[in-house]
Amino acid sequence: MSTLIRYEAGKKPVRRPTEQQLRQEIIQVCRLLHQKDYCLATDGNVSARLDTESFLVTPSGYSKALVQANQLVTVDASGQVVGQGKYGPQRGLRPSSEILLHLEAYRQRPDVQAVVHAHPPVAIALSIAGYDVAPCLLPDVILYFGMVPTTEYATPASAEGAKVITDLITRYDALVLQRHGSVTVGSSVVEAYLRLEKLEQAALITKTVIELGRARPFPPDEVEKLAQWRSQQGLNRPGQDEEIRGACGVCSAAGSGGCLFPQTR
Ligand SMILES: [Zn+2]
Repeated sequence: MSTLIRYEAGKKPVRRPTEQQLRQEIIQVCRLLHQKDYCLATDGNVSARLDTESFLVTPSGYSKALVQANQLVTVDASGQVVGQGKYGPQRGLRPSSEILLHLEAYRQRPDVQAVVHAHPPVAIALSIAGYDVAPCLLPDVILYFGMVPTTEYATPASAEGAKVITDLITRYDALVLQRHGSVTVGSSVVEAYLRLEKLEQAALITKTVIELGRARPFPPDEVEKLAQWRSQQGLNRPGQDEEIRGACGVCSAAGSGGCLFPQTR
């Protein structure tokens, strides 16, 4: 694998990538999505912001193991194919069926440069069972994400699917789509992908703790320290601070009965 990906944890890309670099970066992430079993068959899709009005997105119906850089489609803010998409190697290719979901993330978050939608199996299973991912459980998840909320259910690839993320994506970089998958966003394609890795790892730990059958409560004052750190770093988006403290307070208020995994749905 080439080393086109320029990414350093916690740092935004130094300069804006060219379209060719973005295409390569999306393809590298597609390969990882397939290798890690986050996107099998033709599942999942990846997009990146080219400029304020156009976006690169994976084509509909292609395996992430096989799709090529010159098959990525360029669309405008309404999802219509523009530019070279009608000709050459992209001819006949349609943008991902989840393009509306991607465009909604960009619309709500001008800071977002890339969106990854995947089907991470453990996170999906938890959402079907009615569990959130690592609710007030793992310090690094609180530091990194604040929380990983689960959306309402929506039919995949529908306009409704875009609506269910509208509110949550304004505050969170990683969401679980109930019974369907995940959406992670970032300042680069790689950052959006790494957030997915983190999400599924947290989901696996959550599932393991549920299987073990007991969980020791996370002391509220320790949670408070983490929430304060996020605030001091300026990582909390408006409204998020109260949500994190409120969600964690639910567990501590119920005493030591191990309510770290309230079934929320
Ligand atoms: Zn999907």
